[in-house]
Amino acid sequence: MNLEQIIELDKKYYINTFGDRVPVNFVSGLGLELLGSDGKVYTDLFAGVAVSALGHSHPAVVHAISEQAGKLIHCSNYYYIEKQALLAKLLVENSCADKVFFTNSGAEANEAAIKLARGYFSKQGKASKFGVISLNKSFHGRTLATVAATGTEKYQLPFAPMPAGFHKVDANNFEQIEEAAGHSICAILLETIMGEGGVIPLETEYLQKVEKLCKERDILLILDEVQTGLGRTGNLFGYQAHGITPDIITLAKALGGGFPMGAMLASDKAASGFAPGDHGTTFAGGPLACAAGLASVGEILNSNLTENAKTVGEFTKNELLNLKHELEGEGFDLIKDVRGQGLMIGVELQNIVSADVKTKCFENGYLVGIAGNNTLRLLPPLIVTKKDIKDFIPVLKLVLKELGGK
Ligand SMILES: *Cc1c(COP(=O)(O)O)cnc(C)c1O
Repeated sequence: MNLEQIIELDKKYYINTFGDRVPVNFVSGLGLELLGSDGKVYTDLFAGVAVSALGHSHPAVVHAISEQAGKLIHCSNYYYIEKQALLAKLLVENSCADKVFFTNSGAEANEAAIKLARGYFSKQGKASKFGVISLNKSFHGRTLATVAATGTEKYQLPFAPMPAGFHKVDANNFEQIEEAAGHSICAILLETIMGEGGVIPLETEYLQKVEKLCKERDILLILDEVQTGLGRTGNLFGYQAHGITPDIITLAKALGGGFPMGAMLASDKAASGFAPGDHGTTFAGGPLACAAGLASVGEILNSNLTENAKTVGEFTKNELLNLKHELEGEGFDLIKDVRGQGLMIGVELQNIVSADVKTKCFENGYLVGIAGNNTLRLLPPLIVTKKDIKDFIPVLKLVLKELGGK
């Protein structure tokens, strides 16, 4: 089928939640490169929303999945699963958590975290302590509870009523969260850098104060590290940059190296919120997913991709800041701000529309993303090199000048 035929089928048979998609059908990938069915090669600086951290078709992941698929794809959580136990151990040994529960997605990991926090208090006879505070502009997923926790009203309004007990406050405003953290609150749910919201980092001082507030008021701190986790920010976990210790961490995106998989990590204390029968899943944590997870996390750790995210990330931010100044020198006031940590980078634009920049980058062979606040979003695979970035910057410059031309 050619692309036009695929688009025709999509329009006819697929429920349209993704709007007009980028007009390409990728047929294969390797490293940073993706091959379209049109024969054109694209450089991926978005990694399928931070999923393909090892790049595309990484041999370790391909091998792990193929080998496991040839032996056993699925059993059930009624039985013991070796790779599940091994991956849980690997995640615990490399984080502040004591226990793990696997899910199929980020939203499901956050659902589990919200349930765990409620279960933790209801087991102490405090069922009225069920409220969850999250941030305006946050993103936590598309299930009903996680959409209720998400700080974007337009995702909620068509599906009212939302589950009860979800409260929003502004990011980096301690007074607001302090005031909202009353007796009914069981958990505070935060992304250390709000990805979908526009790559908005939380300040260290704010996070430390929130951690202290949680301790004082007997509230569990849940960090949604679905996007920030597993090396993306230049630390294995986003929280490590701030000297804080969450009670619960959620992961997904990069965890399976492209295979759908999420996880909820918890301290022993928080994990006591689930007793046998309280939660479950048919698919999650199965042999195939955990084989992919072991390969992906193993590779992130063994190839020091976290360190690469830090050095190439800093290099990229500098290059973008230089570009900002260069453009300003040439009379183009287009880059307002460059934000983020590691390889989670936002370029807030002005006098120009981020979606147009994304489209033009695509036409020039580069995949980038966009987020809230008119922000261009770079989430390259963690294997990206300085050279890859050096090649991209002049292309971005041309695109910006073309669109911002007077
Ligand atoms: C992507 C994302 C989610 C949702 O993950 P899904 O796998 O799409 O359900 C939740 N939280 C954050 C911070 C995310 O970036």
